Amino acid sequence: MLLEGKKALIFGVANNRSIAYGISSAFRREGARLAFSYMGDAIKKRVEPISEELGGDFTFQCDVSGDEQIGRAAELVKEKWGSVDVLVHSVAFAPKEDLQGRFLDTTREGFRTAMEISAFSLTALCRAFEPLFNPGGSVICMTYYGSQKRIPNYNVMGVAKAALESSVRYLASDLGEKGVRINAISAGPIKTLSASGISDFRVILDYIETHTPLRRNVTIEEVGNVALFLASDLSSSVTGDIIYADSGFQTVGM
Ligand code: NAP
Repeated sequence: MLLEGKKALIFGVANNRSIAYGISSAFRREGARLAFSYMGDAIKKRVEPISEELGGDFTFQCDVSGDEQIGRAAELVKEKWGSVDVLVHSVAFAPKEDLQGRFLDTTREGFRTAMEISAFSLTALCRAFEPLFNPGGSVICMTYYGSQKRIPNYNVMGVAKAALESSVRYLASDLGEKGVRINAISAGPIKTLSASGISDFRVILDYIETHTPLRRNVTIEEVGNVALFLASDLSSSVTGDIIYADSGFQTVGM
């Protein structure tokens, strides 16, 4: 099995439609040990059954908007596991009002929130967990093509994803000194809880069905399999990269 005995921390399972659920299922299938974060008590009730279903070792609270909580999470993981092999960052947030209409109208607070939770949190997590990483470790985060090209209503999240992708390139060098890799998966649109915050998301899904080489949308299982490759030693030479799991959409000009 590709991840036999590897310890994988998963940030960002909200329910069984989450991309992180697809990733965790693939990891589980290939023998990984799993631990799941949840943001607050209300979400704990949703994450715990998923952890049980996937044979998770433990769950822990972590709102990635605060260094204190991130620090406490790292302490707890150190106590429970001692070290970590894989960290999945599948977290993003922007206020709903900033995911519609004109980008020009983005609020200062909405911009700050989107950048902090969707982009800076990756660096904060990498810094907190750096001492726990085993050599050969792998960090994986989730991005979207709206970072590269303007997508209607994606707005401030596109800017945050551009910052996230750039962070991946800088972090790759820092983490690489210890033999730890970091990559992003740029997934095609998938109907999840977060995606439902983007205005007219259905239009984006329909467009993909007629305009991509594969003429269909991607599934969380397919994204999970790409994450499996990035988490495993099969990708031992790949770091600082953005891998597209998008039915080929980003290759099409017209
Ligand atoms: P999802 O199921 O709603 O997952 C998003 C997760 O982010 C939720 O678990 C949410 O927790 C968590 N989160 C938000 N704010 C947080 C905070 N302050 N601290 C900790 N966790 C927080 O949606 P998803 O589509 O799978 O999103 C996962 C990732 O994939 C995101 O980075 C997203 O941008 C990216 N992505 C999505 C698509 C798509 O079309 N769906 C495409 C490409 C990339 P709560 O449930 O507790 O709020």
